Amino acid sequence: MRIVKSVSSMKRLVRKTKKHRLSIGLVPTMGYLHKGHLSLVRIARKKCRFLVVSIFVNPTQFGPREDLAQYPRDTRRDLRLLRKEEVDAVFIPKEKDMYPQDYDTVVRAERLSTLLCGVSRPHHFQGVTTVVLKLFNIVQPDIAVFGMKDFQQAVIIRRMIVDLNLDIRIITGSIVREPGGLAMSSRNIYLTPSQRKNATVLHTALCHARQAYRRGVRDAKKVKRCLTRKITEKKGRIDYIEIVHKDTLLPQKRLQKNTLIALAVFFGKTRLIDNILL
Ligand code: AMP
Repeated sequence: MRIVKSVSSMKRLVRKTKKHRLSIGLVPTMGYLHKGHLSLVRIARKKCRFLVVSIFVNPTQFGPREDLAQYPRDTRRDLRLLRKEEVDAVFIPKEKDMYPQDYDTVVRAERLSTLLCGVSRPHHFQGVTTVVLKLFNIVQPDIAVFGMKDFQQAVIIRRMIVDLNLDIRIITGSIVREPGGLAMSSRNIYLTPSQRKNATVLHTALCHARQAYRRGVRDAKKVKRCLTRKITEKKGRIDYIEIVHKDTLLPQKRLQKNTLIALAVFFGKTRLIDNILL
């Protein structure tokens, strides 16, 4: 497994790989890997000859009062895990290499980035699209794998690929959960044991909503009220609960096939996201 620490050496490795006509796969991550990340790595491993995993805690997708400084990191452990997955190269660029002093360009999905998480994190998705496009340009993958846990992110990246005429196939992997149902996240380590227990309500409440839909409930307001009550009972502070179409991310008054129920909830200072697709 190659460990590549600079943009220029990554580009050199990509040129060599392309010369050998090997298909390239990319799994972008911010590290502190868990089973959710590894499930994406396994999907990618089957779909390409040369697999690159990037580890980069991208500063531009964090807001000024967010957790950039505390974001958990353990590169040695990450590398150990990736070696077991037969990853070909791990790209770990330095911040200054990705964003030199006079860096000045951004990419933004104008509409999609203002919805859902974009309301309370107004610059987040601009940071994501910009860094992902940079990674795409550096690694030049044929396929890239993203998790459904960040459903909005996957929708925005698909949009960017179409809008900017990129020849990259995006594959999404389903949400990997802890035994209690909590979606795995690097941020789960911020939770106290009681917050972690309470946070399992997110998944159980979403599953209840899906059961209600299966029983014939269609009224989005009613479903939202029920989710709000269940989550608030467990001391979750709701950032948003939205019922939207899975492609447009626009609100829907009635639940139907292809409806996405997405939410962001604080437990203490930790903001967790989760979703379910009907
Ligand atoms: P992150 O390191 O949080 O930026 O995540 C990197 C990639 O892993 C993104 O595509 C996420 O959607 C995906 N991911 C994070 N958590 C999970 C999970 N629990 N299940 C599946 N994919 C995940």
